[in-house]
Formats: sequence, structure tokens, C-alpha cells
Amino acid sequence: MDLGLSGKVALVTGASAGLGYASARALAAEGAAVMICSRDYGRITESALEIGRSTGVEPLPLECDLTDEAGIELLVRKVVDEFNRIDILVSNAGGPPGGPFSSISAEQWDQAYNLTFRSTLHLCRNVLPIMEAQQEGSIVVITSIASKQPIPGLVTSNALRAGLNGLIKSIANEYGPMGIRANTVAPGYTLTERLDELAEEISGREGRSKEDIFEGWTANTPLKRLGQPEEIGAAVAFLASERAAFITGQHLAVDGGSITGTMG
Ligand code: NAD
Repeated sequence: MDLGLSGKVALVTGASAGLGYASARALAAEGAAVMICSRDYGRITESALEIGRSTGVEPLPLECDLTDEAGIELLVRKVVDEFNRIDILVSNAGGPPGGPFSSISAEQWDQAYNLTFRSTLHLCRNVLPIMEAQQEGSIVVITSIASKQPIPGLVTSNALRAGLNGLIKSIANEYGPMGIRANTVAPGYTLTERLDELAEEISGREGRSKEDIFEGWTANTPLKRLGQPEEIGAAVAFLASERAAFITGQHLAVDGGSITGTMG
């Protein structure tokens, strides 16, 4: 199936590794012009070269700390200066600090809010006027299964991702009449650096081995395996594409069946 992404201009944030990288790679492989960012210019440049080598389409690497509002404004301006439009925004960043409610300090709540909620908020605030002028655009936010089903020991994610669902649904309703779609992709346990860090953190807190933690995640997944980043990237590329032109305001779990509640 041709996703109709050739020639589209896409901005993918938090893309030097993991799910952002896989999403950028999927979009580049479909012929989109991709801009990628992360905090470290050297690392994001290396990621752009790798994507270029494997897809034939080299993304433009940009440096941006997504917790910095002025940095986000500058990032979006650079994309527009370069391409004069933005068709696709994939909003993604690192995960918020882990731990149960009793362990999270006020400072950690602020960090979590800035990284996980405020970054998406400001990306949308800067990108939506451009999409509105174009009368088209697609936003995909990478969230988590925590947005639908709280994960024990990940209270910051549970709280903020549910809030993101409310934000993205509201944007979908308000901007639909302008030809702009907004959806979320909610990954389940997927093999990235973040998952390894999470296992490390839980291991320290609960005194269990990392192997035991990974086995537990696998056992609780109906497909009996963890996800691959490419599987999230494929879902992001589909939702961003013309083939999903009638899909907006939706939450797509890509989780091997981990969310145990009723579908929807
Ligand atoms: P990761 O840590 O492997 O990669 C995160 C990327 O974001 C990296 O490129 C990093 O450089 C970048 N980044 C981090 N902080 C940044 C900042 N302040 N400014 C700019 N860039 C920044 O994480 P991942 O596993 O790819 O996860 C991506 C998102 O998906 C996270 O929010 C994570 O919580 C969520 N998620 C991951 C999983 C999983 O199993 N991997 C499951 C559910 C949700």
C-alpha cells in the first residue's frame, strides 16, 4: 500500500533513538522530507546519517531541548524556513521519571509535566497556525498504554498521558473543520533504551532482577513478546498518512494486547 507520504514535510521530535527514530525512519522510507531533533546535535546528526543510509532519504538534524519553550518556537521556525510548510508533526520525547506517587517530588512532577505534556502542548501551539494556514496537516503524539490503563509505579506517566488524550481529542474536534487530524499512538512495552532504564529503576526499587522484570512484561502481553520500535514507527507513519485521512481524535494502542480493558 502506498501511504501517499512522498513529498510531505514531517517534523519528528525526540528522534535520535527509540520510537522517535523508528517513526522518522518509517516516514523517510515512504519518501517524506523529515526533520528530526533531540538535545544533542552530534547524536541527532549520526541518527540522520543512519536513516539516510538505510532509506536513501536523509533527514535534516536539528538540536532542540523540548523542555524549552523558546527552543520549540525556534525549531518550528527552522522547519518552515527550510520547507515553507509542515504537513506532519510527530510529537515524542523521553519518558517521565518513574516511581509510585509517594516517591515523586514536586520537582519531579514539574520535570515530568515539562517533558511529557508541555512539550506536546507547545509543539501544537507553534505548528497548528501553520497547518491552519495550509488547511491541512496531521499530528501524531506518541504516548503510552498508561494513558488508558495506569501502570503500577509510573504515576507521572499515568496522570500526564491521560491529560494528553484530552488535549489531542480537543485539538481533533477544534481543528477537524480545517482539514487537520490529531491522533495518539500508545506503545506497550517496546525494546528501546527507555525500557531498559525503566527495568533498571524498578530493579533498584523492588530488588528484582532485570530479567525477571522483562519476563513479567512479556507474560502480561497477550502476544507473549515485547514490541519492536519499527512496529510503533509503522503505526505512526500510517496514522500520519493519506491512508488514514478519515481517522482523527483516536488513540491507537500498539501493545501486543497489553491493555486488558474493553476495546475503544
Ligand atoms: P528513548 O529514551 O529510547 O528515546 C527518547 C528520545 O527522546 C531520544 O532520542 C532522546 O534523545 C529524546 N529526548 C529525551 N528528552 C528530550 C528532550 N528534553 N528534548 C529533546 N529530545 C529529548 O525512549 P522511547 O522508548 O523511544 O520512548 C519514547 C516515548 O514513548 C517516551 O515518552 C516513553 O515514555 C514512551 N513509551 C515508551 C515505551 C517503551 O516500551 N519503550 C512504552 C510506552 C511509552
